[in-house]
Amino acid sequence: MPHPAEPLNSADLVRARIPLGDFELTILSDGWYLLDGGAMFGVVPKPLWEKRAPADEQNRIFLGLNTVVVRTGRQTVAIETGIGNKLAPKLREIYQAKEQLPRAFEAAGIRPEEIDIVINSHLHFDHCGWNTTKTADGRIVPTFPNACYFAHRGEVEHGHLQLERDAISYISENYDPLVASGQMTLLDTRPGEVQEIVPGVSVEGYPGHTAQLLAIHLDSAGKRATYISDLIPTSAHLDITWAMGYDLDPVTTIAQRKRFYARAIPEQWMVLFTHDHHTPFGYIALNDKGKPVLVE
Ligand SMILES: [Zn+2]
Repeated sequence: MPHPAEPLNSADLVRARIPLGDFELTILSDGWYLLDGGAMFGVVPKPLWEKRAPADEQNRIFLGLNTVVVRTGRQTVAIETGIGNKLAPKLREIYQAKEQLPRAFEAAGIRPEEIDIVINSHLHFDHCGWNTTKTADGRIVPTFPNACYFAHRGEVEHGHLQLERDAISYISENYDPLVASGQMTLLDTRPGEVQEIVPGVSVEGYPGHTAQLLAIHLDSAGKRATYISDLIPTSAHLDITWAMGYDLDPVTTIAQRKRFYARAIPEQWMVLFTHDHHTPFGYIALNDKGKPVLVE
């Protein structure tokens, strides 16, 4: 694990560039951050998870923040926008947030003005932070001025409730200004329902982590990649029962992972991991014990 103070060079911020049929996928990083390892693995005992995710002296593990930019030939789509630059100083310190996504765009040669569509899988602050940027004089402006943003209506409503359980996860400056200006469209996608955003880009409801979590499917020339977001946050979370402590409904997470694998494994979907810095994408197979594993 790198030391928290270790700087990221621009090359590390472009995690991968991969073709998918006629699409080009570029995986960009907002920088890595740290979260409590126990919280990331829920009821799984530490001796089991620490083999896959070593913890620091404060029990924190190293996580990535992956944004996927998709060039479909007709549109340029950004999936997820990292932590952003609006965290309170104390939280920035706790998470060791790096605020690198603008640098990552620059390193990849993609201008924020080119983005036509932004899709948020849900509205936890580590998924939609660069939807907006806080300027030096304290104004909140859209980071992607020409984009139509999409998120689930239920996520906005849940964030507004500011519940004791998860109020800290929702920072309204990441979405309220965009909803107010009409730049964000709110979706009503039901669990298991698929809704097309533009040709080749669709969302599907996969509840568990939150009630309205959306996976994002990319389809081109018979190939599919799915940004499965926090249903399976890293390649260390493939076991169906290794659900996060953060999940609002871990029993549903287990059922939805089974539903996902039932198609993703036989149909060989590329899986894009939201919080895996080292393995931002991969393919899944069942091993001889019937457990889902990454294809080497
Ligand atoms: Zn989340």
